[in-house]
Amino acid sequence: MRPGVDEESTMNIEYPETNSPAASADTASQYVTEFSAPPAQLPVLEARHLRKYFSLRQGKILGKSRVVHAVEDTSLSLYPGRALALVGESGSGKSTIARLLSRLYEPTSGVIAFRGEPVKHSSGAALRAYRHHVQMVFQDPFSSLNPVHNVRYHLSRPLQLHKFVHNKQDETEQILALLNRVSLSPAEQFIQKHPHQLSGGQRQRVAIAQALAARPEVLLADEPVSMLDVSIRLDILNLLLQLKEEEHLALLFITHDIASARYFAEDTLVMYAGQTVEGGPSEEVIQRPKHPYTQLLISAAPDPDDEAAAEGKTRTLPARGEIPSLISPPSGCRFHPRCSYAMPICSQCFPKRTTFKGGHWTHCFRYGDGETSTASAAPLTNGISKIVSDNTDEYQEFNNGTN
Ligand code: SF4
Repeated sequence: MRPGVDEESTMNIEYPETNSPAASADTASQYVTEFSAPPAQLPVLEARHLRKYFSLRQGKILGKSRVVHAVEDTSLSLYPGRALALVGESGSGKSTIARLLSRLYEPTSGVIAFRGEPVKHSSGAALRAYRHHVQMVFQDPFSSLNPVHNVRYHLSRPLQLHKFVHNKQDETEQILALLNRVSLSPAEQFIQKHPHQLSGGQRQRVAIAQALAARPEVLLADEPVSMLDVSIRLDILNLLLQLKEEEHLALLFITHDIASARYFAEDTLVMYAGQTVEGGPSEEVIQRPKHPYTQLLISAAPDPDDEAAAEGKTRTLPARGEIPSLISPPSGCRFHPRCSYAMPICSQCFPKRTTFKGGHWTHCFRYGDGETSTASAAPLTNGISKIVSDNTDEYQEFNNGTN
């Protein structure tokens, strides 16, 4: 059995060997084909061929389990001092990927590797050690902080858990330093405050400080500004950018706003209905989008220079309709029911990757040769029902809007 993966879930998936230095080098060379100007160093965190399926609690129809195909065959790499934006509509599987990477969910199949080593642990001291390196910032700062505890408590917990403090005075000094690092100053005024005494932006700064207290190498920011007032979003984005530079953090920035991806991240990955459809350097993806779904996202974003919109004229979007149900997703390219370029083959199989200059790539038959990618063509069916039956509680969370 491959490391870090349930035996049943390995069916039909080929995994690279990852324990040898040669394997790590292979992984780095894969990245070269995906993104331009790759950093010299190896990725700190990688996901390879990740899949996540959730079973439905009351899911059986004619004896068959019903399954939410939340994430299909997704691979990505995070590098120190570099940000990757994961972009897509609500329900596209972005947050599920962050939760898989932070080990809040177990993948149905696929491998997560930290510094080239597959991550196997799902509990205990090994998981705690992993979370010391990989921290998450959630969308809603109010629900990610405990309302009955003050700021000191929230920041002292990770310091104590990872044994970074030796005495009370040392703890206080480190907490004050953390508050200053996220620009909550004078820090002494914030240390005794409770979440309800802080503004939305201040709460998110405390949540970021809490993540930094573990001294992570990777920060997974799941829509960190979408619940904040527009006026303070830029401040929080600038804070994250500053921390990325100063701490040399590898950043996964999850957003539904493709315009902020260009501002924030060196690389962009676009997801639609659980499938990654386009990726590459942010400037390339946003200036010269190839996939019709990326074109739809960009054309739907507000543009202050759009004179037609300013005059109240309606714009024609390149596609329309809603994101499909992931319980019975469309076959082949999941975008085909909405795509104005759809061809017969689009509903039959998922297109292979087509790579353009600069490391920009997409999965679309408009550019490819029409061959199928066996890893992505169809959801796994054999052996899945048993695995996903253990994930019912996770699906409840998924279904409650954190997908
Ligand atoms: Fe449209 Fe076909 Fe391309 Fe999918 S593969 S985006 S349906 S043209």
